[in-house]
Amino acid sequence: MTKLQPVERHIDAVIKDLLQPLLGPRPRSEWKLVSWDAEQGICLTFQRADSHILIEMEERNDESDCYARTKKFNVCARRQFEVLKEMTADDRHMVDAVVELVGQREDRLEVFERPTASRKRAVREILVDRVLIPEGKGQYYINPYVGCMIGCPFCYVIDRADLSRKLEGLPYLPWGQFVDVKVNAPEVLKREVTEYPPGVVRMSPILTDPYQSIERSYRITRKCLEVLLEAGFSPVVLTRAARIVEDLDLLKRFPKILVGFSIPTNDDKYRQIFEPGADPIDDRIGALEACCSAGLRTVVFIQPMLPMNVEALVQRVAPLVHAVRIDRMYCMNRVRNLYEEHDLAEAATDTFFEETSKSLRKSFEAHGVNIDEMDELYSLLE
Ligand code: SF4
Repeated sequence: MTKLQPVERHIDAVIKDLLQPLLGPRPRSEWKLVSWDAEQGICLTFQRADSHILIEMEERNDESDCYARTKKFNVCARRQFEVLKEMTADDRHMVDAVVELVGQREDRLEVFERPTASRKRAVREILVDRVLIPEGKGQYYINPYVGCMIGCPFCYVIDRADLSRKLEGLPYLPWGQFVDVKVNAPEVLKREVTEYPPGVVRMSPILTDPYQSIERSYRITRKCLEVLLEAGFSPVVLTRAARIVEDLDLLKRFPKILVGFSIPTNDDKYRQIFEPGADPIDDRIGALEACCSAGLRTVVFIQPMLPMNVEALVQRVAPLVHAVRIDRMYCMNRVRNLYEEHDLAEAATDTFFEETSKSLRKSFEAHGVNIDEMDELYSLLE
């Protein structure tokens, strides 16, 4: 591997300046800013008593639905942990104030002439000063990397991750072709676990897969897990990569842990179309089996549902899991061409998702497997 020189990441300073009035003490507001993050657009979590509100800012696009728009951003807002519950008038009042503040300050953001990428792929070693991001309710998440070389074309975070690169003045690179490695994450985490109470820490394939191929060289995920183990935190590790079994020795040592795999079909030919950079289905099921045999609590995400033989998938997965979560394909605009090229238009319809979901639920329930709803995942750790 070519020796890289780690760089200080610039994006946090840019966003700190934008959000500055929210970051200091705010005695006149009952809403506390629990955390913020600028790796997938700009995300803010606010808390008041038991209520948590997640505000996410994407690049402005008048064709996308959102809660509000500023000159530069689409602002989305929802209740955290209670996705089905509407925001109250009080919640909206707080969100409106944040939108107004961002609208007043967004001209401070530098406008970069975006450089042209000199390479087709980019691995950057970065130095960060925050790793453990609180979500509220004693829950946290960690992104050991930024970017994902698995590169699923339907990944919903593609535009948001590119916005963060743009705000930092980095060149555009196609999704799947860049990754930032947080080389000092384990050291930073060692300090953070002394500052926050132990809780549940999610490492999941949303912005980055913790076990994508680069983990084999850098071991950032493994080193962070070692810190969490020592400090009494409980991880929820979700992946599309079979490589996770290389860390079974470590994972087995956690008193509480949940390991999850995304397995969206039983048929590898559909995996090759929609997730060409991810491990074959058989390898993922093999890894799931190894985790289950090692006594770990396991969950499978059938997400996004791809064409499949429902019974064949359930037969293989049901004996190995404590729960499954089922969801449809979003970001259809990114993958419609794949459905069409492969003569799979029917599998892109609402009817397909509704009927497949119904059949999966019925079949998993018949095997005694829980269907996990959003808020119940962490209860599997109990
Ligand atoms: S594995 Fe997850 S984070 Fe990585 S590209 Fe696929 S959906 Fe996105």
